[in-house]
Amino acid sequence: MTRVLGVEGTAWAASAAFYDTETDSFTIETDPYVPESGGIHPREAAEHMQEAIPAVVADVLESMDGPPDAVAFSRGPGLGPCLRICGTAARSLALSFDVPLVGVNHMVAHAEVGRDQSGFTDPVCLNTSGANAHVLALRRGRYRILGETMDTGVGNAIDKFTRHLGWSHPGGPKVERRAKDGEYHDLPYVVKGMDFSFSGIMSAAKDAVDDGVPVEDVCAGLQETIFAMLTEVAERALSLTGTDELVLGGGVGQNERLREMLASMCEQRGADFYAPEPRFLRDNAGMIAVLGA
Ligand code: AMP
Ligand code: MG
Repeated sequence: MTRVLGVEGTAWAASAAFYDTETDSFTIETDPYVPESGGIHPREAAEHMQEAIPAVVADVLESMDGPPDAVAFSRGPGLGPCLRICGTAARSLALSFDVPLVGVNHMVAHAEVGRDQSGFTDPVCLNTSGANAHVLALRRGRYRILGETMDTGVGNAIDKFTRHLGWSHPGGPKVERRAKDGEYHDLPYVVKGMDFSFSGIMSAAKDAVDDGVPVEDVCAGLQETIFAMLTEVAERALSLTGTDELVLGGGVGQNERLREMLASMCEQRGADFYAPEPRFLRDNAGMIAVLGA
């Protein structure tokens, strides 16, 4: 039996979680940093961590009926000023409870939470985060990167497009909503081998709106193009590895259209597809606690 207190603080989510491996139950408390304007500012995000982490940890501790057996925290990758605060908080918690401190990789946690919940053994994992995008395969206990973005992360590309329109952060959910009323607008499709690139698509999408293409159409084109690229590389990874299990991770994975495209690709190949519920896709301390355990 292991009861793990998880702390996440790599970028926008100040989050704490309690995970009990015996009952497989979670308590997750997250306080998001929402920039007043523009994107995530590292110093402002760190100031948010400083205020919010003690509060979310206190809430989670209150829900626990005893001390944890271990403290897990996201040790990176992430924004330096945020990581420092997250690490300091986790270290003092581990010292005060006199339990082991376990630093975990944030990106592996994005992949592992779905793998753990699906029960898959050697899946391909598609990570679709704000600052990242990559396709991984678990082989003999280690994740291997099969393909990744050559420039910006997938969520960041969408967020930068919406910032150009003056929409508030994060842009992903707003693009998803507007795309429902749009007709597909053609944008550059960039897959090179197993890697993808999003920055050219993002610029083309900005230009299209500036040239008067209806914003709903650009949103629809943006989603179809980017998600088709992710689906293509995920499919090639399944084919390359001979695996018939695909797991989704990362905040962009909350998008219903992306899940639909991946599910339909898997169905056509006879592969199993697992997408965790949204609270385990976006940054959260639950996935940190799972990997810590
Ligand atoms: P993460 O870094 O994993 O927490 O994911 C955050 C990213 O997910 C941000 O770039 C958001 O814009 C993006 N995101 C959140 N919800 C959606 C959605 N429904 N569709 C597309 N992207 C989304
Ligand atoms: Mg993340």
